[in-house]
Amino acid sequence: MTHELPKLPYDLKALEPNYLGSTMEFHYGKHHQTYVTNLNNALAGTGFENLAIEELMTKVNDIPAEKRQPIINNGGGHYNHSLFWQIMGPNAGGEPTGKVAEQIKAKWTDFANFKKEFTAAGLTQFGSGWAWLTVNPDGTLNIEKSANQDNCLMNSNRKPILTADVWEHAYYLEHQNKRADWMETFYKLVNWAQVEKNYSNALAGKTIVDTKQLATV
Ligand code: MN
Repeated sequence: MTHELPKLPYDLKALEPNYLGSTMEFHYGKHHQTYVTNLNNALAGTGFENLAIEELMTKVNDIPAEKRQPIINNGGGHYNHSLFWQIMGPNAGGEPTGKVAEQIKAKWTDFANFKKEFTAAGLTQFGSGWAWLTVNPDGTLNIEKSANQDNCLMNSNRKPILTADVWEHAYYLEHQNKRADWMETFYKLVNWAQVEKNYSNALAGKTIVDTKQLATV
């Protein structure tokens, strides 16, 4: 299997004015494409070429040490961006409903407090990385952060269902150095119906990010 840049579930300009088409052209068309190209190159001859990206992420520690890091970097880049595109959408934002809303209330009391904690994860990730909402096997939620292109599929049994890219390339055209402004804008872009679907898929042991069909709702 050769990894490919997934088709976006919306037009490049569909997230404007909150997320510019010009940012999407670079972020999706150049940055993400480069991760995909470099992943295919890094996988060649490893025996791990035929795994879908989500399964590959859970098996990176089985890859021989001398070949592992480029697959972590570029496979993470491919997976993380695919989830990021999947959980955003036009006419999105607002607040979650359903089971995700229940779990957020159980852990963080209310959505405002959840936002405060999730934003803090993004802002305190020093340098490049990601903020995450992840699911434990018992259905409870966690807010996490990771550096570079790392994600928790690589080293835990927690499943990511929502992520915010906090690399500067994710927000520099709109917000320059102001990551806090980007985090506030990010909430206007979250498709909570998709996050709810990701939550149920995570608990059912189903694929959360299918790069052949990013949107499932
Ligand atoms: Mn990015």
